[in-house]
Order: sequence, then structure tokens, then C-alpha cells
Amino acid sequence: MSDNSIPETKKAIVIGGSLGGLFTGNMLRTAGWDVDIYERSEHDLDSRGGGIVLQPDVVEVFRRTGVDIQHIDLGVESHFRTTWHKDGSIQHRSPALQTQTSWSLIYTTMKERFGHDHYHQGKNLVEIKEHPDTKQVTAIFGDGTKALGDLMVGADGNGSTVRRLLWPVDEPTYAGYLAWRGLVEEGRIPEDAKELVGNFDFASHHTENGGSHMLGYLVPGEGNNTHPGHRLYNWVWYRTADDATLADIMTDNEGRERGFSIPEGKLRDEWVSKVYAEADEFLPPNFRAMVKATEYPFGQAIRDLTVDTMVKGHVILLGDAAFIPRPHTAASTSKAAFNAIQLAEALKKSPGDLDAALKAWEPKQLWLGQQLYRQGSGTGNHLMFHG
Ligand SMILES: Cc1cc2nc3c(=O)[nH]c(=O)nc-3n(C[C@H](O)[C@H](O)[C@H](O)COP(=O)(O)OP(=O)(O)OC[C@H]3O[C@@H](n4cnc5c(N)ncnc54)[C@H](O)[C@@H]3O)c2cc1C
Repeated sequence: MSDNSIPETKKAIVIGGSLGGLFTGNMLRTAGWDVDIYERSEHDLDSRGGGIVLQPDVVEVFRRTGVDIQHIDLGVESHFRTTWHKDGSIQHRSPALQTQTSWSLIYTTMKERFGHDHYHQGKNLVEIKEHPDTKQVTAIFGDGTKALGDLMVGADGNGSTVRRLLWPVDEPTYAGYLAWRGLVEEGRIPEDAKELVGNFDFASHHTENGGSHMLGYLVPGEGNNTHPGHRLYNWVWYRTADDATLADIMTDNEGRERGFSIPEGKLRDEWVSKVYAEADEFLPPNFRAMVKATEYPFGQAIRDLTVDTMVKGHVILLGDAAFIPRPHTAASTSKAAFNAIQLAEALKKSPGDLDAALKAWEPKQLWLGQQLYRQGSGTGNHLMFHG
């Protein structure tokens, strides 16, 4: 305390300016903290398309950070879950109300709330220095600049540098399959695929013996537009691939090895053709047509990550840096939101004692991460390896 009545403002440095970092940055401010976010990328991240099932914790972060949720469209509703047979007939249809949003809608909304002044781009964390005397932490970036904080939050995703530096044995493992993904503008959906979107459906298809699981739904389009005619169809097609096949897929059209994620426009032509050819082999006519209408399919390897601790001194991990649940849980983004909400709550409850706050925060986060890991790997292995 600087005097008896005014508490000193604490300073947090958040590494990673994607959804986990932005949820945390915005939530920490609600607990009275000063926050700076440091993002490795030099540009805005909002070109990362893709659908996200809207979960209550994300809406809760919006609500708590002052987003006017009554007056913005948060996504596109689906009213049914429909599973298709390979021959194009309906296998099963049941009511299931759900809202699909997009990565971009959440990112732009949270970034606007956080503002520009304390969001630093082109800052690649390379080293961490902990100061045992003050318990503060220094982040050292690739350009030689430094930032000092009372708390460092590693929200730097599945390849986290914070985790590599302080949790060196915890690394993601490949689950044996990848997600091919694609986005098709609503106006360009081919006639044969229109039945996938006409009935407010969250649609899927899976093969009996595993190896292929497809799903698709509408998400907001350009500029977060949720109006009919301006949305995007988002499809995700899980396919098994051994290590050698994955390495080949992840070698892009300029010969660069991409590791575990190949972005739009970077997949080699031979693999684009193979995705189209395999669509003929495995999918019903409607999904087949949707895949072939996708000019630039992209892909992400499915990986698992769990950790036993999320707190080391005054450095913490959250979001994908700590646990990567399989996407079948539809919970990665909401887990990051939950981590952030709970962190702010814990800090509010122990305003003068960061150690006590972190000790109170950690167990529930570990529990959630481990539950999602079990649920996601159980579902994914069943779908992909047993059918
Ligand atoms: C390309 C991409 C597309 C995705 N699409 C979807 C989707 O469609 N649906 C869905 O549910 N989820 C998707 N996700 C995952 C989802 O965004 C995350 O599960 C969720 O947002 C929580 O992620 P995160 O912020 O913890 O990590 P990430 O989203 O991985 O973000 C980590 C951030 O940290 C930055 N960073 C990494 N290393 C450093 C460093 N050394 N210094 C500074 N910054 C660093 C990265 O550039 C990145 O911006 C996607 C993730 C990525 C990366």
C-alpha cells in the first residue's frame, strides 16, 4: 500500500493476444489491475476464420466487461441436429437449439473493449526472469525490450513459450487425426449442398468404422454479419492420418514446414485435390458438394495437452497453453473464458495477497481441464478409431 486508503494498482503482463489473452486482459481490469498484452504477431489476428459454438462463459465475459449483449448479434442459431447417411438420406434429426459464433466476432469484440493503448503487437516473448526478492516477473522479448509485472499470464496458446520455459516437460501429443476445415460464402453454396443450411441445421455425417467424421453449420460472415445471405458455412472434417502423412500435409506450397496447422491458401495443390477426391469417397452428396466448393481448405492437427500445475510463483498458464481439449467438446474457447472469469474473481477476493488468490484459483481450473481432456479424448477416439 502506498498509504492507508489507496491500494497500489497491481500490474499484469499477458503473453498472447488471442482469445485467452483478451478475455484475461479485460477481466483483470474488472478486478482493478493494470494490464498490458504482448502479442507475437505484428498484425491483427482477425483473419483467422472459423466457427465456434457460443458457450455461456464467453457471453459472461462479454457481460462482465460491458459489451452490450442485448444489442449485438452474437451469432447464428441452429435449431436441429441432423445426421446424414452416405446415400444422402437423413439418418437422424432432433431439435437442439444452439448458437454458432465465429472466432473473429469474439476477437474483434474483446479487442475493441481492451483498446489499443496497452495491446502491443510484434512482441515475441523469448525469456522470463523471476525476481525472488520482489516476487515480480520480467518478460524479455525478441526485440530486446522488457516488461515488468506482478503477475505474468501465459495465454500464448498450444505452442506456449511460457510453458516451454517454466514447464519444460509438458508438451502436446498428436492424437492421430486432423481436422480439414473450410469456409464457403453463403451466396456461393452450390445447389447440391443447400439442404445442409435450409433447415437451421447443425449437420453431421460419420462412417461406421471410424476414420471420417464430418460436421458443418453457419457462422457470421464478413464484418460479423449474421444476416441471411451474408453468412459463411463452416465445415470441419476429421480424418485419420499417420505421422508421415501429417508431416506431408503440413509442408506448405512454398516448402515450409508448418508443424500442426496449415492456413487457408497454403495447402499444396496435390492435397487440395486429394481432399476433393476423398470427399467423393467418404461423404454424402451434400457435404461432398460443400467441400468441393471450398477453394482453400485448411487443416489443423488434433493434439492433446494436459498439465499438473498452472501456477509457478507469479507466473500462470491458461487457455490452450495449459490444456488443449479436443474440439468435439466445443469448449476450448469457453475454457479460456472460464479461466479468466475465475482469475478475476480470485484476485478480487484476496486483493492484497496474490499467492492466496492463485492458490484459490488453480484447483478448479485443473479440474475443468482434466475433465475436458477425458471427455474429448474419449469422444474423439471413439468416433475416429472405432466408428
Ligand atoms: C489459427 C487458429 C484458429 C482457430 N480456430 C478455432 C475455431 O475455429 N474454433 C475454436 O473453437 N477454436 C479455434 N481456435 C482455438 C481457439 O481460438 C482457442 O482454443 C481459444 O481461443 C483459446 O486460445 P488461446 O488464446 O489460449 O490460444 P491461441 O488462440 O493459440 O492464441 C495464442 C496467442 O499467443 C501468441 N503467442 C504465441 N507465442 C507467443 C510468444 N512467444 N510471445 C507472444 N505471443 C505469443 C500467438 O500468436 C497467439 O495469438 C483457433 C486457434 C488458432 C491459433
